[in-house]
Amino acid sequence: MTDQTRYTLSKTDLPRTWYNINADMPMPPTPVLNPQTLEPITPDFLSVLFPMELIMQDVSSDRYIDIPEDVREIYKLYRPTPMIRAHRLEQALDTPAHIYYKYEGVSAAGSHKPNTAIAQAYYNKSAGTKALTTETGAGQWGSALALACQFFDLDLEVYMVKISYEQKPYRRIMMETYGAQVFPSPTDRTQFGKSILEKDPHSPGSLGIAISEAVEVAVTSGGAKKYSLGSVLNHVLLHQTVIGEESLKQMDLAGEYPDVIIGCVGGGSNFAGIAYPFLRQNLLDGQRTRLVAIEPTATPTLTKGVYTFDYGDSAKMAPIVKMYTLGHDFVPPPIHAGGLRYHGMAPSLCALYEAGYIEAIAVPQLATFDAAVTFTRAEGILPAPESAHAIRGVIDEALDAKEKGEQRIILFNLSGHGHFDMGAYQAYLSQELQDYAYPEEEIKAAMQNLPEVPLPS
Ligand SMILES: *Cc1c(COP(=O)(O)O)cnc(C)c1O
Repeated sequence: MTDQTRYTLSKTDLPRTWYNINADMPMPPTPVLNPQTLEPITPDFLSVLFPMELIMQDVSSDRYIDIPEDVREIYKLYRPTPMIRAHRLEQALDTPAHIYYKYEGVSAAGSHKPNTAIAQAYYNKSAGTKALTTETGAGQWGSALALACQFFDLDLEVYMVKISYEQKPYRRIMMETYGAQVFPSPTDRTQFGKSILEKDPHSPGSLGIAISEAVEVAVTSGGAKKYSLGSVLNHVLLHQTVIGEESLKQMDLAGEYPDVIIGCVGGGSNFAGIAYPFLRQNLLDGQRTRLVAIEPTATPTLTKGVYTFDYGDSAKMAPIVKMYTLGHDFVPPPIHAGGLRYHGMAPSLCALYEAGYIEAIAVPQLATFDAAVTFTRAEGILPAPESAHAIRGVIDEALDAKEKGEQRIILFNLSGHGHFDMGAYQAYLSQELQDYAYPEEEIKAAMQNLPEVPLPS
């Protein structure tokens, strides 16, 4: 039993429903506010940006939501994804821990992001949307949505954070090959982009700025274009729960149950995707799995941020939500894990972290790449810099188990491969990769600008 390395499911094991954490949240939901009025948001405001089905999913309290057959058919191109026992990494670390990873890098885009991109493209197509706008950091989200838009015959405009556009040209070409248009953000195509460029023509951009541009284009399109977000929102986390539902079945095949689940967090979607179905088992079935989110020390949202109401974007056009935040003005250091450079975090994840259901750890860039290279040399798969944060957390957990002589069962989400991130690996191998000091001053400055929302009683 313990000799097995790869745990695969058949097509018939592909989940038929997504798991909605709203049904089992141990605390009441926090309000989502209109950025102009600071009043609770109306479906009208949101329907400029999203099709109604997705808005309804955000607020639904149904525990399970059916996955449309058209979406399941496309999922079958790469799902169920494999779960692998990292025997060789265990040996390299000489740890009594059992390490399993769920590998989402087998999708065409190379990450977990198509799980929601395909669903979002489907619901937009069904609602009659002709074109989508979005932002992308490292290009992972943009390429996932470009793939999905191609499948559903939708046009796509991608606002790509400029520093990544320059560091990662191949992701842009991938998006263009799928048929998307890609612009380095800040651009002069939007009022907000122009205002940033006036202040700083060499702005490296940020996810917050790129979101503002994509939102502005959708809002000013007179209904022709809708906007799509790759993380943070409830419906995105919902769509990612296929990861955890499959993992539950695969752990069953392995005859073990995880003591700890680890994932990296940018906006929180891949972590929630693997963790929430196990959290359900904690809440409803008496399991006691620890859920550990790993973030970069350069953007320490959960570990150093403030739990408060903040805008989702830099231009204050996106809704205000209660979350851990570094401030919507925060421009993070240019770490290579572009997908983790966001100032905020999914509200459900933040509420669960605040209440102690989830743990968080921040890890520095150099130690993260040490872990990535250890993993690559043991297991063969070269991880995305984002996923490497999870691996750092896993190795530390496995070494802790070794010190304590415990046969701890660890499951982590390997959210994507790093085949487009050779620049980062090159910098590491030539010893040019650096750690960034904790950006205390920048965070302090960004914190001066939080919206003055009257505290709900
Ligand atoms: C985008 C991305 C992330 C971070 O986003 P989450 O919404 O927090 O999952 C992590 N890993 C990979 C490979 C990504 O592309």
